[in-house]
Amino acid sequence: MNAKRKYAPRVYGSAIERFWPKVNRGDPSGCWLWTAGVFKMGGYGQLNIGNGVIVRAHVFAYKILIGQVQKGMFVCHKCDVPRCVNPEHLFLGTQRDNMRDAAKKGRLIVGKQNKSVGLSEEEIEKIKNRVQRCHPTNSMRALSREFRVNLWTIRQIVRGKKLCSGGKYLYATY
Ligand SMILES: [Zn+2]
Repeated sequence: MNAKRKYAPRVYGSAIERFWPKVNRGDPSGCWLWTAGVFKMGGYGQLNIGNGVIVRAHVFAYKILIGQVQKGMFVCHKCDVPRCVNPEHLFLGTQRDNMRDAAKKGRLIVGKQNKSVGLSEEEIEKIKNRVQRCHPTNSMRALSREFRVNLWTIRQIVRGKKLCSGGKYLYATY
């Protein structure tokens, strides 16, 4: 009976009551963080809207505060915080935006695990610069996910070790 996963208005009402107590709403322009469970994949907030249907909290926030999400569109974050449900930080994007969004934040594993990947000289420079700017998306772990190389590789880059002459490829596993 949940196959269609549509929000009946009746379900909506009680779901909204369950939604707000789980949101840490501080500054109106800041991130409103989801304080309950999150999906393993993506780290988005989980909301049970009844009848055993679990939805992404940020998508739910978008639907109740802004409007419907047209078919084929995705609710993306401007703020890079998957737990955030502040409607001002959400935007509708295409699947491409959504993938780019996820890849940018290191939440999408592109390609197979343990596959050798190459980093260009340019990417190595980018990693060096990023790691100096203090931001959650610039942590060594986040960078390793984003550039699909292991932490060891990121550490070597940060320490300025040249891993390959010419710098064309630097092999590592995710
Ligand atoms: Zn936010």
